[in-house]
Amino acid sequence: MKIMKKVIVKNSTAGKITSGFPWIYRNEILAVEESAEPGELVRLHARGGAFLGIGYVNPLSQITVRVFCTEDRSIDKEFLMGKISKALQKRHDLREVTTAYRLIHAEADELPGLVVDRYADFLAVQINTAGMERLRPLILSCLVETVQPAGIYEKSEEKFRSKEGLATEEKVLHGRVPESILIEEYGARFIVRLKESQKTGFYLDQRRNRQRVALYVRAGFDVLDLFSNTGGFGIHAAFRGARSVRFVDVSATALRQAEENVLLNQLKAVETARADAFHYIREAYEKGRFFDLIIVDPPSFAQTRRTRESAVRAFRQLISGCLRLLRGGGVLAVFSCSQAVSLEDIKEASLKASGDTGSRLDILDYLLQDIDHPVRPHIPNSLYLKGLLLRKEV
Ligand code: SAH
Repeated sequence: MKIMKKVIVKNSTAGKITSGFPWIYRNEILAVEESAEPGELVRLHARGGAFLGIGYVNPLSQITVRVFCTEDRSIDKEFLMGKISKALQKRHDLREVTTAYRLIHAEADELPGLVVDRYADFLAVQINTAGMERLRPLILSCLVETVQPAGIYEKSEEKFRSKEGLATEEKVLHGRVPESILIEEYGARFIVRLKESQKTGFYLDQRRNRQRVALYVRAGFDVLDLFSNTGGFGIHAAFRGARSVRFVDVSATALRQAEENVLLNQLKAVETARADAFHYIREAYEKGRFFDLIIVDPPSFAQTRRTRESAVRAFRQLISGCLRLLRGGGVLAVFSCSQAVSLEDIKEASLKASGDTGSRLDILDYLLQDIDHPVRPHIPNSLYLKGLLLRKEV
């Protein structure tokens, strides 16, 4: 085994590592043997000398060490292959319902800093830390060997990499990657354009919720899909026999793809509107429009607990606006993808909104991210996507 430098942590941190917590902050470190380079593998020890685990260090980052494992072993091909095959196993059941899923979800799959999405025969990869960057060639060869993709495309996130002192470039890493990839999800088909899409291509975390929400659609329903992106929720609703579906998003690119997806699935009575969702709901109210199902799936309104209050206000405003557009008996699905906003916060915003609009609500269901984005109690923020399914009383 290659000799790794030692990092000594506070006694209070030792227990956290043993129970699986994967992050060590700068102020938890007592000493680093010699000067470790960004991304270098290190051995973690308690003050008394006891071995705690293996991780990688980046002195540039507040999260100074990310832990791989609590065994004393090398981080080699066998280790990575083991993690990939465990991740594949966890997603086994999803293969019956979709050809696209997140294969590796970073810390939640014990591979901090690495995200891999599978889109049919292709992979989109994010290498977001210096530690993972050092393992890049090995990771790529393991992915090629286990998944045998026709192509791999890099979609690493600049906002993470710049904090780690790394440059970012989107590019093909292996094989060939076409302009558009066809995927299937619960019988609906979608085109994913990796090169022009947001994040790693498609909002896979909402898969199960798209299907669940669509189950409430009845013939004759008018559906409003706010923050629609490429049409995920609305397409499933149209499949279930909605009379009309309206997609609203600020991104022209996303709406163009939504239109493509509508054609692909031979759906009718679908319209797109490029607009700010807050604006749109005010205008629709003035025009006297009504809907039976509304989906609200905005981008993260709060990155930290400090901005939580303004996020809750934004939710209250959105939910109030939607309740005014909802027919009695209609259903509203509200989501937050920010770890700083809790389900309680969305409930609180809903309660205020029901007061604002004089409507009474039933909570039909609580929703969370699909299983390819594992929620693990010992991983911070691993539960980030939550939703509330509400019915407006007649
Ligand atoms: N529901 C989608 C994912 C939504 S992601 C799905 O299932 O695939 C959030 C979307 O909100 C993005 O497409 C982004 O372009 C859009 N967006 C961001 N701010 C917006 C705003 N103020 N009004 C409307 N859309 C907005």
